[in-house]
Amino acid sequence: MDEPRGIMPEVILSSGRESSLRRQHPWLLSGGVDVEPGAKAAGAWVRVLSSTGEVLGYGHYSPHSSIRVRLLAFGKDDPGEGLLGDRLEAAIARRRDHPLLQGTNALRLVNAESDGLPGLVVDRFGDVVVAKFLTAGMHARAAEIAQKLEALTELPHGYRRRDDRSARREKIPSEEGTLWGDPPHETTIEERGRRYAVDFRQGQKTGFYLDQRDARDLVESIAQGRRMLDAFSYSGGFAVAAGKGGAASLVLMDSSEKALAGAAENLDRNAVECPREIRRGDAFEALRAAASAGERFDLIVLDPPPLARSRRSVQGAARAYKDMLLHGLRSAAPGALILTFNCSHHIDPDLFQKVVFSAALDAGRGVDWLRTLGAPADHAFSVHHPEGRYLHGCLLEVKAGPEPLP
Ligand code: SAH
Repeated sequence: MDEPRGIMPEVILSSGRESSLRRQHPWLLSGGVDVEPGAKAAGAWVRVLSSTGEVLGYGHYSPHSSIRVRLLAFGKDDPGEGLLGDRLEAAIARRRDHPLLQGTNALRLVNAESDGLPGLVVDRFGDVVVAKFLTAGMHARAAEIAQKLEALTELPHGYRRRDDRSARREKIPSEEGTLWGDPPHETTIEERGRRYAVDFRQGQKTGFYLDQRDARDLVESIAQGRRMLDAFSYSGGFAVAAGKGGAASLVLMDSSEKALAGAAENLDRNAVECPREIRRGDAFEALRAAASAGERFDLIVLDPPPLARSRRSVQGAARAYKDMLLHGLRSAAPGALILTFNCSHHIDPDLFQKVVFSAALDAGRGVDWLRTLGAPADHAFSVHHPEGRYLHGCLLEVKAGPEPLP
């Protein structure tokens, strides 16, 4: 442990508000705070005390966010300045030899709370490291973190992605650009025999949906001979997997022209030669139209963007979600396999299962839930931080047998 640090600003909880911290939940919400240092201490380490003066832990202070402190350490001992470097090292080392994370040069190296580093997300794409600094605390330490990442990964390029939403919430500048080296315009990754170009500067998220890696493996393993529909395809992550797995044909749907252009290139890059059709436009509408036109698919992936960004939008999102799945089911051939995902953590597993059930009922199809799907091991969530569980999915099978009338 480092030398104890000198004077550190303190955050004192209101009476009776310490239970979540005692359970090692890393977020201290503004409603539980009685005394705090204010804007001048943005990003600083703070010591968190109960109303009776007991030291409960240490974290980074965000005076403008409703999550006032993200705790990095619990208990009375000051973890010292070396904590960040130790956590980064542990996060990277854990993944290096992890049996579930082999065969790819693209993975999440640091997953915020689950690696004890709230506010920091770091992805590796080939020889480029892409980081997002999402809190005042991590923003203030960006240069130091970049230096450590360069040394720990020994990769030639580091790039910082902006994140406007968190910048607004935290009142920190929204910055992007080179962290070290000379990052190329885009890079190519190799994931278990699949190759994808990744636009880590402009692409969605940090450029690629790394969190669907295990689901891509699954799709590749079940695609043989199937007519595949990839709705909300982005750059064709699933379509490529299905193509490599021997799909009979592919239909891709997305609203983004750029994403679809990337998808076509990725299919070519992987020498996927089966017939393909690319449909640009609103996929909710396109799914409805395909079902009404009597199209049939044997493998369907439904991977929409987060439909519920807040608790208030849950009901509307659940309706949209059900609609999407209903039309997916309407165009499912008997025996079809469907992967459907929900990446809004506000729609919890229970509600998700109800939505699947009611879509099946409305579609008049018998449906079995074969597997529950989630994020891969580099995107694990800490059991102390259930909010980190955002990706819920399932593999469904539509019963063989007569189809309902259209
Ligand atoms: N399945 C993809 C990730 C999907 S992310 C993968 O594994 O890589 C969600 C995608 O939905 C994005 O590509 C976005 O462009 C697209 N999208 C968002 N709203 C849409 C809409 N209404 N219709 C069609 N596509 C939409």
